[in-house]
Amino acid sequence: MSLLFDDFKSWKTHCIANSVPLYKPVLEYEQEQKGRTEAEIWTHMQNAYQVMCNAIQTGLTEDMTSRSGMVNNGAKKVFNSPIIVLSPEFQKLISRAIAAKEVNSCMGRIVAAPTAGASGILPGILFTLQELHNLSNSKIMEGLLVAAGIALIIERNAGIAGAVGGCQAETGSAAAMGAGAIVYCLGGTIDQVFNAVAITIQCTLGLVCDPVAGLVEVPCIVRNASGVAIAYSSAQIALSDMDSVIPVDECVQAMGEIGQSMEARYKETALGGLAATLTGKKIAQKVLVQDIEILPDETL
Ligand code: SF4
Repeated sequence: MSLLFDDFKSWKTHCIANSVPLYKPVLEYEQEQKGRTEAEIWTHMQNAYQVMCNAIQTGLTEDMTSRSGMVNNGAKKVFNSPIIVLSPEFQKLISRAIAAKEVNSCMGRIVAAPTAGASGILPGILFTLQELHNLSNSKIMEGLLVAAGIALIIERNAGIAGAVGGCQAETGSAAAMGAGAIVYCLGGTIDQVFNAVAITIQCTLGLVCDPVAGLVEVPCIVRNASGVAIAYSSAQIALSDMDSVIPVDECVQAMGEIGQSMEARYKETALGGLAATLTGKKIAQKVLVQDIEILPDETL
């Protein structure tokens, strides 16, 4: 029977005892759970990665405007901005995360990894990582499996849905998956991979889920951008052997505890936070009017 992915500690123990890389038990778990061959799993991973890359391309080249008006080709604006705040690579990273997420908000095809709300984070991270470090597709697939293993443990011990644990569980988990994948793909040790996950969780703890008008657009899209930035920063910190101090399993526990104590208005109900601001309520009213199609836009 494959590893159950109860916690990071047992994942590490399993890999050391069997002298296998981090992705291997995830691969075995997938084979056992899905009843697929190893070749089928790799093909599935490759297809998923292709969908992620296509979403980036779509978001950067096609019209991305949503019915609510809150999504208005943001990725292209960031990608083409003449003012570069940090570096061209950082600008591309951010715009790619936004691009893939805008495709989701405009009802396009994405990979919900781990959720649709956070669907720009892994594409932005992996595409940019592959480009920057000239990594093979097979290495990126291994990184994707490591990311999946991280998600399995977070889901088991805290949750990966905004309705369960707030946005920390969605964009925070996606960023943690991405940070772990970065460190793995760049040759980090198991401890460094898990340290990157721990640091990412520490940076996203407490983030509430407050989508304006109940649509997965604002603040979701910009949180995908901040998610990739946090993931890369955490990976850099972990690869430099700066310690998270609080072990990764305890960070996940903290995420679960915070998620449980969060009020319902911060869990995808669109009743608190940004959704409850004056502007947020106006947009919600406009969306409602559009939906029932009885009043013109000018009422707002
Ligand atoms: S704010 Fe809520 S809906 Fe939006 S990405 Fe975060 S968890 Fe998902």
